[in-house]
Amino acid sequence: MNPLEILKKYFGYDLFRAGQREMIDTILEERDALAIMPTGAGKSICYQVPALMLPGITLVISPLISLMQDQVKALNEAGIHAAFINSSLTDVQISKALQYASQGLYKIIYVAPERLESNEFRWFASNTEISMITIDEAHCISQWGQDFRPSYLKIIDFVNFLSYRPIISAFTATATKEVKEDIVCILGLKSPNVLVTGFDRENLYYQVENISRKDNFILNYIKEHSNDSGIIYCATRKNVEKMHELLFKNGVCVTKYHAGLNSEARKDNQDAFIYDRSPIIVATNAFGMGIDKSNVRFVIHYNMPQSMENYYQEAGRAGRDGEDAQCILLFSAQDIMINKFLLDNKELSDIDFEDAELIRQRDVQRLHVMENYCHTTNCLRNFILQYFGEKTNQPCGDCANCKKEFTEIDMTKEAKWIINCVTETKGRYGLNVVVGTLLGARRAKLKEFGTMEYKSYGVLKDSTESMLKLLITQMIQEGYLNQTDDKYSLLKIGNMVARLHDESTKVTVKVHIEEKDTISSNTN
Ligand code: ADP
Ligand code: ZN
Repeated sequence: MNPLEILKKYFGYDLFRAGQREMIDTILEERDALAIMPTGAGKSICYQVPALMLPGITLVISPLISLMQDQVKALNEAGIHAAFINSSLTDVQISKALQYASQGLYKIIYVAPERLESNEFRWFASNTEISMITIDEAHCISQWGQDFRPSYLKIIDFVNFLSYRPIISAFTATATKEVKEDIVCILGLKSPNVLVTGFDRENLYYQVENISRKDNFILNYIKEHSNDSGIIYCATRKNVEKMHELLFKNGVCVTKYHAGLNSEARKDNQDAFIYDRSPIIVATNAFGMGIDKSNVRFVIHYNMPQSMENYYQEAGRAGRDGEDAQCILLFSAQDIMINKFLLDNKELSDIDFEDAELIRQRDVQRLHVMENYCHTTNCLRNFILQYFGEKTNQPCGDCANCKKEFTEIDMTKEAKWIINCVTETKGRYGLNVVVGTLLGARRAKLKEFGTMEYKSYGVLKDSTESMLKLLITQMIQEGYLNQTDDKYSLLKIGNMVARLHDESTKVTVKVHIEEKDTISSNTN
């Protein structure tokens, strides 16, 4: 049978989706492969189809027990012999499964990365023909990835332990340059075919609302979209409970999901949502892994997520049926505090100290990116695509920022003063002190730091705090400034700064028309 016949026979689909055939052919040519495809694009087919065509077994390394179980169940139902080996099984069950596997009963075996170190598993592997090792959620190998799993680093030991080299294929939805390089390098992929399929989800409408009265926004929104199914993500369990209660009291048919509920309640609530008995669910980010509900019309974030990776994944649960859907992020200054608190309290105890420090730095960086997304007045879709390494040309014309009317203000003079201030203060301060200094604010803190003595003190007193913050955010994006990754987030001179010496360089900021009125009434 050829790949298309297998697709039809076992999976019931008539056509391959973008990228699937290319990945399958690469693997069948016995070449390593790395596919970076957004969630929902259909990564599994890319390794499951060739697994059925290669001799021997395909090992799929996967980080989540629940995902493995779902996949194996689906394969078995399709008539494909597959099994999983993880800590949900007893030792006896594991031995039995390995025994069946070595008798050739399975074509695909899912394992957790920790298993690769066990002697029993290694003995099995060295007596069995393994044609391919597939690494699912491959970004877990990178410290730059959002969920770094140290045990993923052991995969290569296992590959080296084998007396021959199977084909290695890796899959992820995280496409930043650093993660990509880490996957290729740490997994030791040999001249792999690296395929990146588009990250753009054209049917999703992105919107950021900078508001403090989030409850009202959500109540109104749901009133206006009363027939739609949607997810409301909150940063904490407490917020989930509060929002759930508010909606419930207002007669909304709503359920909830967070890790504080027992597994039975979680299952019930999830089902109620999936089968549209409660079309709206309020949840923490514990909700959603492996959920494939097609008719989600909106995803609202009540709080700012911790990273663009999280945001893209969570917002991406909207509109999987290809119909229009909205992704709205509600943002207030408090969100930054909540997220810093969550990061400071993140459990990193089973990771060694140096790694933990590195992870913390990355987390802070990712938070900065999220903040920038919330502040930008440029195209939101392009912001997301650029973050994931895609080239963009024109603004999309179809996100909330593109839809707003805006005007461009030349702020080159202000930008130069900001650079002067950061230079003068030797990059020792963060956003608030720099802005306060330039505005000539009379804060005790500035007195204490002595920034009142600097030349740049008060030079931009006719500007406004929000305008200067917007400008600085933009200057960071354009490389004129950097922000340090520690908890102080100090402003430093960026490597594009030389461009500002060129008279023809202009730094402009886009402001929405309504906002401009308030800003200019302050500046005059
Ligand atoms: P990912 O792992 O990339 O998030 P999945 O492999 O879970 O995505 O696939 C997402 C959904 O798309 C699944 O319901 C899957 O059955 C479906 N799918 C995958 N390939 C095809 C195809 N060629 N035609 C139709 N549906 C497909
Ligand atoms: Zn846009």
